[in-house]
Amino acid sequence: MAWDFETDPDYQKQLDWVAAFIETEVMPLDHLLGSPYDTQDEARNKAVRPLQAKVKAQKLWGCHLGPELGGQGYGQVKLALLNEIIGRSAYGPTVFGCQAPDSGNAEILAHYGTAAQKTQYLQPLLNNEIVSCFAMTEPQGGADPGVFTTRATRTTTGWRIDGEKWFASNARFAAFFIVMVVTNPEAPLASRCSMFIVPAGAPGLSIVRNAGYGDHIDSHAYLRFENVEVPEDAMLGSEGGGFLVSQVRLGGGRIHHAMRTIASARTAFDAMCQRVLSRRTKGEVLAEKQTVQEKIADSWIELEQFRLLVLRTAWLIDKHQDYKKVLKDIAAVKAAMPMVLHNIAGRALHLHGSIGLSREMPFAQQVIDSYFLGLADGPTEVHKVTVAKQVLRAYMPTNALFPAYHLPQVRERAREHYPDIVPRDAH
Ligand SMILES: Cc1cc2nc3c(=O)[nH]c(=O)nc-3n(C[C@H](O)[C@H](O)[C@H](O)COP(=O)(O)OP(=O)(O)OC[C@H]3O[C@@H](n4cnc5c(N)ncnc54)[C@H](O)[C@@H]3O)c2cc1C
Repeated sequence: MAWDFETDPDYQKQLDWVAAFIETEVMPLDHLLGSPYDTQDEARNKAVRPLQAKVKAQKLWGCHLGPELGGQGYGQVKLALLNEIIGRSAYGPTVFGCQAPDSGNAEILAHYGTAAQKTQYLQPLLNNEIVSCFAMTEPQGGADPGVFTTRATRTTTGWRIDGEKWFASNARFAAFFIVMVVTNPEAPLASRCSMFIVPAGAPGLSIVRNAGYGDHIDSHAYLRFENVEVPEDAMLGSEGGGFLVSQVRLGGGRIHHAMRTIASARTAFDAMCQRVLSRRTKGEVLAEKQTVQEKIADSWIELEQFRLLVLRTAWLIDKHQDYKKVLKDIAAVKAAMPMVLHNIAGRALHLHGSIGLSREMPFAQQVIDSYFLGLADGPTEVHKVTVAKQVLRAYMPTNALFPAYHLPQVRERAREHYPDIVPRDAH
């Protein structure tokens, strides 16, 4: 019977190398450099390129990818164990070649790109020579694709795109955009949109402004497309197949965010534990107060529960090799993720008192990031609906006035099954 919580010793050795490397080589960059996505930043490149070479030498580059794309084809369980370390650093994913949204965009290009697009965009993207942007959300709404209006109309040579996109991550650094656009407004929602690749600098494509949040300045763009002409083969996948194409990136993307969230929550948890053992008030360390102990216990339980849910979901993805069969589990992970980070980072902030709230500690940013996790790739409510719908598929309604689990009926069936046992209420 295969049921194991141990990590293979050889892989554990690699993970130990990753942990030390992240701690000593990568995490310092978070405090010295600007955005990991700025491939034009010479200081960033000078620091990052040698580290990326070390990762490649360890055969840990782009581990989410199959060997045909230069990765190791590790599968999601091994990835989860890796990402829960890499996620401790903002620069970690870039140094290991698995940063979002490039990871998902690369998967789209690998599936749907032409040979020329793969040469022009995919290979440099996989090498982190360039970065990319995924633009789907519009200013009038992101959670409901039914309100999207950015439109592509046919021209003699291809398509013309007009409209606006909102909160597109890293647009200012991107060499190309993968954009969800309405191609047939009359079609049912599932086949209304198509996916296009648009190069940065295409005439008519502009950044209206960059919005940021928390410490992330100017990180998310408000984009405008005015008569942006693209050739026929700029469409990725089939006409009306935009949602199908987006699923290629979202399934993996969501679980990878979750794996890295374990790392972020654990750093807050570790800090909280050290603090309560160190800070004294009213003659004793905080750790001796029961309400503080409750916070430690709740945080540990939430983190371990979440980690197990992530690992089990990763295992299911590896087992089924089909994201559609793991929809419920991925949605559950996505819905649980913001709450876990919010609760644990929030408690760490609170137990550190004023310094915890200050900009001299990471907790306030982590709490804000928990809201990012609850919005990006769709709000929590929408994923809970998916979980509930999928869960309820396994159940049937009953027309009986009293359901089969009504205790008098249960007892009656028990008596019928064991007629020789004298029921305990008869004693
Ligand atoms: C940090 C960050 C990065 C992002 N990066 C990108 C990116 O790179 N590309 C991109 O295209 N988009 C990106 N987004 C946008 C993200 O996908 C949207 O924010 C998300 O889909 C929600 O859309 P909205 O912001 O328009 O909110 P709305 O659609 O206006 O929803 C607002 C709120 O309404 C509630 N709500 C919505 N629908 C339902 C429902 N069905 N049931 C119950 N309540 C509901 C929820 O509370 C929700 O948070 C990013 C967002 C963030 C925060």
